[in-house]
Amino acid sequence: MSHRTTVELVASAAEPSGFPAPSLPEVAVVGRSNVGKSSLINTLVAKDVAHTSRTPGRTRLLHWFRVKSAGHSFFLVDLPGYGYAEVPKGMRASWQPLIESYLNGRSTLRAVLLLLDIRRGVQEEELDFVPWLLDAGIDVVPVLTKADKLAKNKRAPVQARVRRELELRRVPLAVSALSADGIDELWRLMVATTR
Ligand code: GDP
Repeated sequence: MSHRTTVELVASAAEPSGFPAPSLPEVAVVGRSNVGKSSLINTLVAKDVAHTSRTPGRTRLLHWFRVKSAGHSFFLVDLPGYGYAEVPKGMRASWQPLIESYLNGRSTLRAVLLLLDIRRGVQEEELDFVPWLLDAGIDVVPVLTKADKLAKNKRAPVQARVRRELELRRVPLAVSALSADGIDELWRLMVATTR
């Protein structure tokens, strides 16, 4: 995949007025801070495009990457992370309306990749957030990150449990930015979703 793929940051926005026009199908990526989102995005596009360290106090931005592969183009949207315990309440209050206005109003949005750390599984935020996404009619693609930290035969029970706990249609994919497990499968899914 990678040798034919180009990726370019086309926009970063802290508020809806900065969102680019909805010109291409898009897949958004969301997860708790430290879930491995930047590493996964960088691995998917085989380029160091997502910032690998984010401090809790920094401005939360949405980033649009234009991904082009074998004549097919789509936007990969990096949504700000959530769930830092040390983040002040005001930050959480600003994250929510921004993300909600994006998720509710984005006509070109095809799916949300919901990242969960395979060793942590579902936490309180996801129990809140996922039913909201499903109610909004959004296709949730659950992705378990850092799969290399769990032996292969221990992954299936976690995949089943997460699916059950979040009442999801799809079985979560187990991926690793480190070992590249599951990356090709996730890539194919993203391309198929944006076709
Ligand atoms: P983000 O905050 O969600 O963008 O997470 P990062 O991509 O910055 O990763 C957070 C931490 O998890 C870093 O220390 C990464 O090295 C580590 N990490 C990310 N992906 C993987 C993975 O697939 N396997 C392992 N073992 N560690 C990972």
